[in-house]
Amino acid sequence: MRRREFLNVVAGSVAGLPALTSNRSRALPEEQEKKIQESEVMVKVLGTAQDGGIPQLGCYCPNCLRAREEPGFSRLVSSLGLFDIPKRSFFLLDATPDIRRQCHLAHQRLGKQKSGARNFPQAVLLTHAHIGHYTGLMFFGYESVSTSDLPAYCSERMGIFLANNGPWSQLVNFKNISIHQLSMKQKLSLTPSLSITARSVPHRDEYSDTLGFTAYGQKKKLLYIPDIQDWRTWKKSIVEEVKKVDYALLDGTFYGPEELPGRDLSRIGHPFITTSLKLLGKLAREGKTKIYFTHLNHSNLALDPEGEARKKIEREGFRLAEEGMEFFL
Ligand SMILES: [Zn+2]
Ligand SMILES: [Zn+2]
Ligand SMILES: [Zn+2]
Repeated sequence: MRRREFLNVVAGSVAGLPALTSNRSRALPEEQEKKIQESEVMVKVLGTAQDGGIPQLGCYCPNCLRAREEPGFSRLVSSLGLFDIPKRSFFLLDATPDIRRQCHLAHQRLGKQKSGARNFPQAVLLTHAHIGHYTGLMFFGYESVSTSDLPAYCSERMGIFLANNGPWSQLVNFKNISIHQLSMKQKLSLTPSLSITARSVPHRDEYSDTLGFTAYGQKKKLLYIPDIQDWRTWKKSIVEEVKKVDYALLDGTFYGPEELPGRDLSRIGHPFITTSLKLLGKLAREGKTKIYFTHLNHSNLALDPEGEARKKIEREGFRLAEEGMEFFL
Protein backbone atom coordinates (compact mmCIF):
# COMPACT_ATOMS: atom_id res chain seq x y z
CA MET A 1 0.00 0.00 0.00
CA ARG A 2 1.36 3.43 -0.81
CA ARG A 3 1.73 5.86 2.05
CA ARG A 4 -1.16 8.18 1.16
CA GLU A 5 -3.60 5.29 0.93
CA PHE A 6 -2.27 4.00 4.21
CA LEU A 7 -2.75 7.41 5.83
CA ASN A 8 -6.38 7.46 4.84
CA VAL A 9 -6.93 4.06 6.37
CA VAL A 10 -5.19 4.97 9.59
CA ALA A 11 -6.79 8.35 10.12
CA GLY A 12 -10.18 7.03 9.08
CA SER A 13 -10.00 4.52 11.87
CA VAL A 14 -8.93 7.19 14.35
CA ALA A 15 -11.39 9.95 14.14
CA GLY A 16 -13.99 8.40 11.88
CA LEU A 17 -12.92 10.79 9.16
CA PRO A 18 -10.84 10.51 6.03
CA ALA A 19 -7.43 12.07 6.56
CA LEU A 20 -7.32 15.71 5.59
CA THR A 21 -3.72 15.49 4.52
CA SER A 22 -1.75 18.58 3.75
CA ASN A 23 -1.94 18.44 -0.02
CA ARG A 24 -5.36 16.93 -0.32
CA SER A 25 -7.94 18.84 1.64
CA ARG A 26 -11.39 18.18 0.35
CA ALA A 27 -14.93 19.31 1.07
CA LEU A 28 -16.50 17.48 3.98
CA PRO A 29 -19.64 15.48 3.29
CA GLU A 30 -22.72 16.27 5.38
CA GLU A 31 -22.37 13.56 8.01
CA GLN A 32 -18.80 14.60 8.66
CA GLU A 33 -19.83 18.25 9.08
CA LYS A 34 -22.44 17.05 11.59
CA LYS A 35 -19.80 15.16 13.52
CA ILE A 36 -17.68 18.29 13.68
CA GLN A 37 -20.58 20.34 15.01
CA GLU A 38 -21.16 17.76 17.73
CA SER A 39 -17.64 18.24 19.02
CA GLU A 40 -16.24 21.73 19.00
CA VAL A 41 -12.69 20.90 19.89
CA MET A 42 -10.23 19.19 17.57
CA VAL A 43 -6.52 18.45 17.69
CA LYS A 44 -4.79 18.24 14.32
CA VAL A 45 -1.36 16.73 13.84
CA LEU A 46 0.78 19.32 12.03
CA GLY A 47 4.07 17.42 12.09
CA THR A 48 5.56 14.14 13.30
CA ALA A 49 9.35 14.31 12.80
CA GLN A 50 12.14 14.73 15.34
CA ASP A 51 13.65 18.24 15.47
CA GLY A 52 15.83 17.75 12.36
CA GLY A 53 12.84 16.90 10.10
CA ILE A 54 12.62 14.22 7.41
CA PRO A 55 14.55 14.29 5.12
CA GLN A 56 17.32 15.56 7.35
CA LEU A 57 19.91 18.02 6.09
CA GLY A 58 22.64 16.25 4.15
CA CYS A 59 21.37 12.75 4.94
CA TYR A 60 21.00 10.07 2.30
CA CYS A 61 19.88 7.18 4.47
CA PRO A 62 17.08 5.05 2.96
CA ASN A 63 14.38 7.01 4.83
CA CYS A 64 15.74 10.39 3.74
CA LEU A 65 16.25 9.21 0.13
CA ARG A 66 12.65 7.96 0.02
CA ALA A 67 11.38 11.24 1.47
CA ARG A 68 13.21 13.21 -1.24
CA GLU A 69 12.03 10.97 -4.06
CA GLU A 70 8.41 10.89 -2.88
CA PRO A 71 7.41 13.98 -0.92
CA GLY A 72 4.54 11.98 0.64
CA PHE A 73 7.18 10.35 2.82
CA SER A 74 8.66 13.62 4.06
CA ARG A 75 7.59 14.73 7.54
CA LEU A 76 7.33 18.16 9.13
CA VAL A 77 8.71 18.64 12.65
CA SER A 78 6.41 17.53 15.51
CA SER A 79 3.65 19.97 16.33
CA LEU A 80 -0.08 20.03 17.05
CA GLY A 81 -2.83 22.51 16.27
CA LEU A 82 -5.56 22.78 18.93
CA PHE A 83 -8.79 24.05 17.38
CA ASP A 84 -12.02 25.50 18.71
CA ILE A 85 -13.91 25.11 15.48
CA PRO A 86 -17.04 27.28 16.12
CA LYS A 87 -14.78 30.11 17.27
CA ARG A 88 -12.54 29.51 14.23
CA SER A 89 -9.50 29.80 16.43
CA PHE A 90 -6.40 27.70 16.74
CA PHE A 91 -3.54 27.37 19.23
CA LEU A 92 -0.15 26.14 18.15
CA LEU A 93 1.59 23.56 20.33
CA ASP A 94 5.30 24.09 19.60
CA ALA A 95 6.75 26.58 17.14
CA THR A 96 8.87 24.47 14.79
CA PRO A 97 11.22 25.40 11.93
CA ASP A 98 8.27 24.32 9.70
CA ILE A 99 5.90 26.87 11.27
CA ARG A 100 5.02 28.66 8.02
CA ARG A 101 3.68 25.52 6.43
CA GLN A 102 2.03 24.36 9.65
CA CYS A 103 0.17 27.63 10.26
CA HIS A 104 -1.03 27.49 6.67
CA LEU A 105 -2.40 23.97 7.23
CA ALA A 106 -4.28 25.30 10.27
CA HIS A 107 -5.66 28.33 8.44
CA GLN A 108 -6.67 26.14 5.53
CA ARG A 109 -8.55 23.87 7.93
CA LEU A 110 -10.46 26.88 9.30
CA GLY A 111 -11.06 28.36 5.85
CA LYS A 112 -9.09 31.49 6.84
CA GLN A 113 -7.24 32.36 3.68
CA LYS A 114 -8.12 35.97 2.98
CA SER A 115 -5.26 37.95 1.56
CA GLY A 116 -4.15 40.71 3.90
CA ALA A 117 -5.89 39.16 6.92
CA ARG A 118 -3.74 38.84 10.04
CA ASN A 119 -3.89 35.08 10.34
CA PHE A 120 -1.96 34.00 13.41
CA PRO A 121 -2.55 31.42 16.13
CA GLN A 122 -4.43 32.73 19.17
CA ALA A 123 -1.46 31.66 21.26
CA VAL A 124 1.58 29.39 21.18
CA LEU A 125 2.29 26.69 23.77
CA LEU A 126 5.92 25.58 24.09
CA THR A 127 7.33 22.31 25.36
CA HIS A 128 11.05 23.24 25.53
CA ALA A 129 14.08 24.99 24.06
CA HIS A 130 15.35 22.44 21.53
CA ILE A 131 15.45 23.62 17.92
CA GLY A 132 12.41 21.69 16.70
CA HIS A 133 10.12 23.11 19.36
CA TYR A 134 10.58 26.87 19.63
CA THR A 135 12.77 28.35 16.87
CA GLY A 136 9.69 28.97 14.69
CA LEU A 137 8.97 31.87 17.05
CA MET A 138 11.39 33.90 14.91
CA PHE A 139 8.68 34.24 12.26
CA PHE A 140 6.55 36.28 14.68
CA GLY A 141 9.31 38.90 14.86
CA TYR A 142 10.21 42.18 13.23
CA GLU A 143 11.82 40.62 10.13
CA SER A 144 8.62 38.69 9.39
CA VAL A 145 4.96 39.18 10.44
CA SER A 146 5.69 41.23 13.60
CA THR A 147 2.83 40.10 15.79
CA SER A 148 1.59 42.18 18.68
CA ASP A 149 1.56 40.56 22.14
CA LEU A 150 1.00 37.05 20.81
CA PRO A 151 0.75 34.98 24.01
CA ALA A 152 3.51 32.37 24.37
CA TYR A 153 2.76 29.92 27.20
CA CYS A 154 5.75 28.09 28.64
CA SER A 155 7.50 27.07 31.84
CA GLU A 156 9.15 29.66 34.08
CA ARG A 157 12.65 28.60 33.02
CA MET A 158 11.74 28.66 29.32
CA GLY A 159 10.29 32.17 29.75
CA ILE A 160 13.49 33.40 31.42
CA PHE A 161 15.56 31.82 28.62
CA LEU A 162 13.52 33.58 25.91
CA ALA A 163 13.52 36.94 27.68
CA ASN A 164 17.28 36.93 28.29
CA ASN A 165 18.80 35.50 25.12
CA GLY A 166 18.86 36.99 21.64
CA PRO A 167 17.33 36.78 19.15
CA TRP A 168 14.33 35.68 21.25
CA SER A 169 14.68 38.58 23.67
CA GLN A 170 13.93 40.96 20.80
CA LEU A 171 10.52 39.30 20.36
CA VAL A 172 9.88 40.08 24.03
CA ASN A 173 11.35 43.60 23.96
CA PHE A 174 9.42 44.54 20.82
CA LYS A 175 6.28 42.96 22.35
CA ASN A 176 5.83 40.61 19.37
CA ILE A 177 5.17 37.91 21.95
CA SER A 178 4.11 38.12 25.58
CA ILE A 179 5.35 35.37 27.86
CA HIS A 180 2.88 33.64 30.17
CA GLN A 181 4.10 31.17 32.75
CA LEU A 182 2.16 27.92 32.81
CA SER A 183 1.01 26.51 36.13
CA MET A 184 1.96 22.87 36.65
CA LYS A 185 -1.09 22.44 38.86
CA GLN A 186 -4.00 24.27 37.28
CA LYS A 187 -5.90 23.79 34.05
CA LEU A 188 -5.62 26.66 31.61
CA SER A 189 -8.79 27.47 29.66
CA LEU A 190 -7.90 28.50 26.13
CA THR A 191 -11.58 28.84 25.20
CA PRO A 192 -14.73 27.84 27.16
CA SER A 193 -14.59 24.42 25.41
CA LEU A 194 -10.83 23.83 25.19
CA SER A 195 -8.33 23.66 28.02
CA ILE A 196 -4.87 22.24 28.69
CA THR A 197 -2.65 21.16 31.54
CA ALA A 198 1.15 21.07 31.48
CA ARG A 199 3.47 18.77 33.40
CA SER A 200 7.24 18.55 33.73
CA VAL A 201 9.02 15.63 32.09
CA PRO A 202 12.70 14.65 32.33
CA HIS A 203 14.77 15.45 29.20
CA ARG A 204 18.13 16.97 28.23
CA ASP A 205 17.43 20.33 29.81
CA GLU A 206 20.30 22.57 28.64
CA TYR A 207 18.43 25.84 28.11
CA SER A 208 15.02 25.09 29.56
CA ASP A 209 13.11 22.36 31.33
CA THR A 210 10.62 20.29 29.31
CA LEU A 211 6.85 19.97 29.38
CA GLY A 212 4.24 17.50 28.21
CA PHE A 213 0.62 18.57 27.71
CA THR A 214 -2.89 17.21 28.01
CA ALA A 215 -5.62 18.84 25.89
CA TYR A 216 -9.23 18.64 27.11
CA GLY A 217 -12.31 19.09 24.97
CA GLN A 218 -15.89 18.69 26.13
CA LYS A 219 -15.79 14.89 26.03
CA LYS A 220 -12.28 13.60 25.50
CA LYS A 221 -8.63 14.10 26.44
CA LEU A 222 -5.38 13.85 24.51
CA LEU A 223 -1.91 13.44 26.05
CA TYR A 224 1.13 14.80 24.15
CA ILE A 225 4.70 13.97 25.18
CA PRO A 226 7.00 14.36 22.16
CA ASP A 227 10.30 14.36 24.09
CA ILE A 228 11.15 12.51 27.31
CA GLN A 229 14.34 10.97 28.74
CA ASP A 230 12.61 7.64 29.36
CA TRP A 231 9.49 6.39 31.08
CA ARG A 232 11.30 5.07 34.18
CA THR A 233 12.89 8.36 35.25
CA TRP A 234 9.56 10.22 35.09
CA LYS A 235 8.02 10.59 38.52
CA LYS A 236 4.60 9.77 37.07
CA SER A 237 3.60 6.36 35.73
CA ILE A 238 3.12 6.51 31.95
CA VAL A 239 0.76 3.53 32.22
CA GLU A 240 -1.51 5.44 34.62
CA GLU A 241 -1.26 8.66 32.61
CA VAL A 242 -2.19 6.89 29.36
CA LYS A 243 -5.16 5.21 31.08
CA LYS A 244 -6.61 8.64 31.91
CA VAL A 245 -6.88 9.81 28.29
CA ASP A 246 -8.61 8.83 25.05
CA TYR A 247 -5.60 9.51 22.83
CA ALA A 248 -1.89 9.52 23.63
CA LEU A 249 0.76 10.85 21.21
CA LEU A 250 4.09 9.79 22.64
CA ASP A 251 7.84 10.06 22.03
CA GLY A 252 8.66 7.54 19.29
CA THR A 253 12.01 9.08 18.27
CA PHE A 254 13.81 5.75 17.87
CA TYR A 255 12.31 2.36 17.12
CA GLY A 256 15.03 0.31 18.84
CA PRO A 257 18.76 0.00 19.50
CA GLU A 258 19.39 -1.75 16.16
CA GLU A 259 18.88 1.53 14.24
CA LEU A 260 21.78 3.16 16.15
CA PRO A 261 24.82 0.94 15.58
CA GLY A 262 27.91 2.18 17.40
CA ARG A 263 26.02 4.60 19.68
CA ASP A 264 26.23 4.49 23.47
CA LEU A 265 22.66 3.52 24.32
CA SER A 266 22.93 4.84 27.88
CA ARG A 267 23.28 8.32 26.36
CA ILE A 268 20.24 8.06 24.10
CA GLY A 269 17.66 10.19 25.82
CA HIS A 270 14.44 8.68 24.53
CA PRO A 271 12.39 5.56 25.28
CA PHE A 272 12.64 3.13 22.37
CA ILE A 273 9.34 2.30 20.67
CA THR A 274 10.10 -1.36 21.41
CA THR A 275 10.18 -0.51 25.14
CA SER A 276 6.87 1.39 24.91
CA LEU A 277 5.26 -1.53 23.06
CA LYS A 278 6.04 -3.75 26.04
CA LEU A 279 5.10 -1.23 28.69
CA LEU A 280 1.83 -0.09 27.11
CA GLY A 281 0.93 -3.20 25.13
CA LYS A 282 -1.91 -4.26 27.41
CA LEU A 283 -3.55 -0.83 27.16
CA ALA A 284 -3.14 -0.77 23.38
CA ARG A 285 -4.77 -4.19 23.05
CA GLU A 286 -7.66 -3.15 25.30
CA GLY A 287 -8.16 -0.25 22.89
CA LYS A 288 -9.73 2.25 25.27
CA THR A 289 -6.83 4.63 24.74
CA LYS A 290 -5.50 4.95 21.20
CA ILE A 291 -1.72 5.25 21.31
CA TYR A 292 0.38 6.89 18.57
CA PHE A 293 4.12 7.46 18.20
CA THR A 294 5.39 10.84 17.03
CA HIS A 295 8.67 12.85 16.96
CA LEU A 296 10.20 10.22 14.66
CA ASN A 297 13.92 10.42 13.91
CA HIS A 298 14.95 10.12 10.25
CA SER A 299 16.67 6.82 11.14
CA ASN A 300 13.49 5.29 12.61
CA LEU A 301 12.95 1.75 11.27
CA ALA A 302 9.18 2.21 11.57
CA LEU A 303 9.22 4.86 8.81
CA ASP A 304 9.28 2.11 6.18
CA PRO A 305 5.58 1.32 5.66
CA GLU A 306 6.42 -2.18 4.43
CA GLY A 307 9.03 -2.90 7.12
CA GLU A 308 8.77 -5.34 10.00
CA ALA A 309 9.00 -2.56 12.61
CA ARG A 310 5.86 -0.84 11.29
CA LYS A 311 4.02 -4.14 11.06
CA LYS A 312 4.90 -5.02 14.65
CA ILE A 313 3.66 -1.63 15.92
CA GLU A 314 0.34 -2.08 14.14
CA ARG A 315 -0.04 -5.74 15.10
CA GLU A 316 0.26 -4.74 18.73
CA GLY A 317 -2.48 -2.13 18.46
CA PHE A 318 -0.39 1.06 18.15
CA ARG A 319 -0.02 3.50 15.26
CA LEU A 320 2.39 6.12 13.98
CA ALA A 321 1.02 9.66 14.09
CA GLU A 322 0.60 11.13 10.61
CA GLU A 323 0.37 14.72 9.50
CA GLY A 324 -3.26 15.67 8.95
CA MET A 325 -4.75 13.28 11.52
CA GLU A 326 -7.60 14.88 13.44
CA PHE A 327 -8.75 13.94 16.92
CA PHE A 328 -12.11 15.28 18.06
CA LEU A 329 -12.27 15.91 21.77
ZN1 LIG B 1 12.45 17.24 20.01
ZN1 LIG C 1 18.36 10.16 7.07
ZN1 LIG D 1 14.19 17.90 22.95
